[in-house]
Amino acid sequence: EEKGRFRILVLMSDTGGGHRASAQALEAAFQKLYPGATDICTVDFWKSVAGFPFHNFPQQYSYCAKRPFLWRFLYMWAKFRPTRALTEFAFSLFCHSKVRRYFEAAEADLIISVHPLVNTLSLSVLAYMRDLYGRPTPPYVTVVTDLGGAHPTWFDGRADLTFVPSEPLQEMALENGVQEDRIRMLGLPIRSSFWEESRSIDELRKELGMALHVPTVLLVGGGDGVGGIGAIADAIAVKIAEEVGTSGGQLVVVCGKNKKLLEQMRARSWPVAVILKGFVNNMSEWMAACDILCSKAGPGTIAEAWIRGLPIILTGFLPGQEEGNVQLVTESGSGEFHASPAAIAACAARWVSDPELRGAVAGRATSMGRPSSSIEIARDVWQLGQTRLREREAFRLRMLQTPVQHVPN
Ligand code: UDP
Repeated sequence: EEKGRFRILVLMSDTGGGHRASAQALEAAFQKLYPGATDICTVDFWKSVAGFPFHNFPQQYSYCAKRPFLWRFLYMWAKFRPTRALTEFAFSLFCHSKVRRYFEAAEADLIISVHPLVNTLSLSVLAYMRDLYGRPTPPYVTVVTDLGGAHPTWFDGRADLTFVPSEPLQEMALENGVQEDRIRMLGLPIRSSFWEESRSIDELRKELGMALHVPTVLLVGGGDGVGGIGAIADAIAVKIAEEVGTSGGQLVVVCGKNKKLLEQMRARSWPVAVILKGFVNNMSEWMAACDILCSKAGPGTIAEAWIRGLPIILTGFLPGQEEGNVQLVTESGSGEFHASPAAIAACAARWVSDPELRGAVAGRATSMGRPSSSIEIARDVWQLGQTRLREREAFRLRMLQTPVQHVPN
């Protein structure tokens, strides 16, 4: 009989782009390490498993993320113990049996969570299933997809393994009751285009239609185009032209999904060479072809820039969850944070005009990069999964061999 594939259930939700991206990175790592051996099912936990009344989380997230005050309020709500307990109670009340039925039908050999809000509920459901059926449930691992700071709901001591990308989060896991031997610090799971060394910068620049030998700033807008990148692009272009002349520097602007902004920027003239893009699918090439990154403090973008050795200028952050990212970048010396377009542009111009300074920051960025994180996480997860599979199989055989006890009347 053919041996079945190892079944992995990945719990994520499209609240921001990072969770799906991490899920995909891990899936690619499993395919690379164990081709054809895994069967991976990735599911939007809130939309498709927990359902009503939490099925609209992805849309609600996107609404709140654009409103800092509301965002901070909700972030604190879920952090403060009593209100957090209330939320968990509601999750459990409405979703416990739906999640249990889903887990039963999925028959997974292992569950991976890449979302902070699903862990307490899922682990409670698994504990309930163990009590109910008297047999082991699949192992559960959490892969934290935040970088320098994280919401406490990520951490639950009952998870078999918790993967964190940085020291501050390792600390936080410990503070939130995760045992040290269940924590692995391996970096953020990053997609496969960042795993290998990039091609030469000249080759990439030719292909991407860029000027060849001028320092280049890559300005990346948020997934939704939030963050006022129009004004920042303008300030950087003007300042670079002032500092190194109209042909001494170059600017690439990736506007993300904001089409209107892209049109506006295309319609105007610029004091230096500017390349304008909408959403790009080859970010690893753009990063490899540029010298400086300018972006809001998204965890994925920062980890990618580190892998590509780019000095980072952070221009903004989501209150709460991205503040720690700013700290991590500035304290590691791999970048600076500036809020106003003028200060952002001044920093960009300083780095454009001083290759030595830029090189030093780039070196520190490179030392923070973890290109093999996805592969290393997948390897650890696989090992745990295989061990538990053998244990569960042994348990099943024992049960089959145990003679049925006849109770005398
Ligand atoms: N990204 C991309 N193309 C674009 C703009 C962004 O591939 O045109 C990617 C970026 O490289 C990063 C992700 O989108 O991997 C954004 O994730 P991050 O964690 O930085 O921020 P989030 O939007 O998830 O908060």
